[in-house]
Amino acid sequence: MNNNTKYIFVTGGVVSSLGKGIVASSLARLLLSRGYRVTIQKFDPYINVDPGTLNPYEHGECYVTVDGKETDLDLGHYERFTNIRTTEANNVTTGRVYKTVIEKERRGDFLGKTVQIIPHITDELKRFMKKLGNTGDYDFVITEIGGTVGDIESTPFLEAVRQLRWEMGGNAISIHLTYVPYLSAAKELKTKPTQHSVKQLQQMGIQPDILVLRAERDIPAGMRRKVAQFCNVRPEAVIQSTDVPTIYRVPLMMHDQKLDEIVLDLLGVDNPRPIDLSGWNDFLQRMENAEKTVTIGLVGKYVELPDAYKSIHESLIQAATYCDRKLDLRFIHSEKITGENVAEKLGDLDGVIIAPGFGQRGVEGKLIALRWCRENDVPTFGICLGMQCMVIEFARNVLGLEDADSVEMEHNTTHNVIDLMEEQKSISNMGGTMRLGAYDCRLEEGSKAAEAYGKTLVSERHRHRYEFNGDYRQAFEEAGMRCVGENPETHLVEVVEIPGKRWYLGTQFHPEYQSTVLNPNPLFLSFVRAAIHNAAKK
Ligand code: GLN
Repeated sequence: MNNNTKYIFVTGGVVSSLGKGIVASSLARLLLSRGYRVTIQKFDPYINVDPGTLNPYEHGECYVTVDGKETDLDLGHYERFTNIRTTEANNVTTGRVYKTVIEKERRGDFLGKTVQIIPHITDELKRFMKKLGNTGDYDFVITEIGGTVGDIESTPFLEAVRQLRWEMGGNAISIHLTYVPYLSAAKELKTKPTQHSVKQLQQMGIQPDILVLRAERDIPAGMRRKVAQFCNVRPEAVIQSTDVPTIYRVPLMMHDQKLDEIVLDLLGVDNPRPIDLSGWNDFLQRMENAEKTVTIGLVGKYVELPDAYKSIHESLIQAATYCDRKLDLRFIHSEKITGENVAEKLGDLDGVIIAPGFGQRGVEGKLIALRWCRENDVPTFGICLGMQCMVIEFARNVLGLEDADSVEMEHNTTHNVIDLMEEQKSISNMGGTMRLGAYDCRLEEGSKAAEAYGKTLVSERHRHRYEFNGDYRQAFEEAGMRCVGENPETHLVEVVEIPGKRWYLGTQFHPEYQSTVLNPNPLFLSFVRAAIHNAAKK
């Protein structure tokens, strides 16, 4: 083990959805901006081996890493804040831990012992928790524990954290995030739930070193001192996290209260390096100074649940900011779009995104939207299923192949313009078996895509089972939809565009997985620029 690696464990209490991932990401940003090497990992207490099989209604977007792992959406925040790539090692679930332990048991590795939660599951958890730190590549490993203190299922995780903190001594600290509600009838902020949550953590043998209190309004200093006193925490280590207009302000809010300094001090780091937040500040300044707006519509079927499109939303915010615009993103329910109302629903938009997805529901609406966008020359960006829909719409309405479809939607179509990939045909297990992760893509010189990236060889991440059917390539190209991006080895079509249009482009890959605050994705930038241009012409 690399003894220099310091560990920071982040837990949450009182309620879920407090933004533990954002606080962990913000701390990582601050330490990175001081020149330290940092990674963040998420430990999730659910039994699914990974979130790949989860419906977005359950857990929001599934985020895909470069190495092709389907992970929790918090890993998206980690990458967007840190600009550092995560991998399989950064997200571990109870399911994965049990699977590993059970496989070991079947191999006979436990030599006849009774296999138990303690020590076998907790030992495995500890092994996973130390894995990235042991590479020697990081000065700090931030570990976010999913769920809420007191949940039955997170108990082994907290036991593992307790043991590690004990073993690591001064090289590990614990940050606990809680909620301070405001009771409007009493006109009071209440810290009792925080005190209870800390007590619960203490009962598990973990004394938090830092408390981050989420609240909708300012928590007076006296009240924070009281919390410190009740919870055995230094007064300055009780930090508040109030609502801010953008999540990208949270690192600055944390820095203003010296979170990074306190962490470095608690971990015994002598002569902390100075911080340089200039790039981050520039971004925020542009975001906050933008006066004009760009209006984008996102056509998808999970509109009630914006977390389902988290990375697309954030990519658009980043791109709009770099174009000095505020983003007005409108979620448009694909199931509600009809031939009669499409003009009314899309007419005000400067640009339209057709969302990724699975299954038939909402596809007809996407096709109607696409026809309208194509015929009215609105900048349009199709992502994964969105790109496949672009192909289907073009086949039906331009090539005249009336029953053209994806075999995902219509198994018996005579014109399978989107077909199951060859290597998918023998697959029956659903978990982790799609075409996943980063693949190279060669872009045609002179295409909008190549122009956007400023180069012809790019690498983007995938998550799909179906593909553009190469048998139709020539027919599409002759009719005006060009296949301008392909995989250099397999020649799978990855990008299509209609050159005569303002910006009509579809990608089989998901560029939204590779867009960060300091490194926005070129395709989103190019799309938003085209949308702004379109708005100016209206
Ligand atoms: N359902 C499509 C496929 O599997 C598209 C997937 C997606 O949009 N991520 O190919």
